[in-house]
Amino acid sequence: CGILGYTGEQQAAPILLSGLEKLEYRGYDSAGLAVRDNEKPVEIIKARGRLRVLAEKTNDGSTLKGTCGIGHTRWATHGEPSVENAHPHCSDDRNVVGVHNGIIENYQELKDKLLRKGYQFYSSTDTEVAIKLIDYYYKKYIGTPVDALNHAMIRIRGSYALAVMFKEYPEEIYVARKDSPMIIGVNEQESYLASDVPAILKYTRNVYYIGNLEIGRLQKDKVTFYNLDGDEIEKELVEVKWDT
Ligand code: GLU
Repeated sequence: CGILGYTGEQQAAPILLSGLEKLEYRGYDSAGLAVRDNEKPVEIIKARGRLRVLAEKTNDGSTLKGTCGIGHTRWATHGEPSVENAHPHCSDDRNVVGVHNGIIENYQELKDKLLRKGYQFYSSTDTEVAIKLIDYYYKKYIGTPVDALNHAMIRIRGSYALAVMFKEYPEEIYVARKDSPMIIGVNEQESYLASDVPAILKYTRNVYYIGNLEIGRLQKDKVTFYNLDGDEIEKELVEVKWDT
């Protein structure tokens, strides 16, 4: 029920854990992180229960090396609370890794389509379907991550705040949103995403509000936004004046 992302110069895992902690009030039953160190394979770690369990498993994030990552706290809607169902979810080759808040209403129909195409599923979540649908379009059209997200968003019915990393795009995170909360924060040489402003206030006060059916590409030194046609859109950077 909480989502966090970071790309920059610092180690991502401790930032992800501290940001997720700030989102604890939203409630959750499990949590997970995916962190990558440039070209190295992405590392994924998940735990059932409190964030403390995940923090202990990773020695407060210090065993996960890398400056780009995504984190998630889950409030199960499809599938019981378990490590298998916890996010991040990924494609079998780990090319596409993502976290999701929300509900994919037509996940069964999309899952049937992907099963026919040879995809396998290891969780009972709607989220794994969304991530594998993005992977399917990414491979089918050999396009950019933005193209793949656009294709998936046209097919998905429901609500989502999605944060996805693609193997061929190190140090980048792609986000998409519809009817689930997400904001983007920027600082010199770092970009953040979070379900809510307080999760990143410690790091930055400069945020973008990403709208419904919009996509963002987070790089450490800039963020680019796109609409559903894949056209670049301009957004105003807002300074958050309030304190928590
Ligand atoms: N529907 C997804 C699941 O059950 C995401 C739940 C959430 O927003 O945490 O895994």
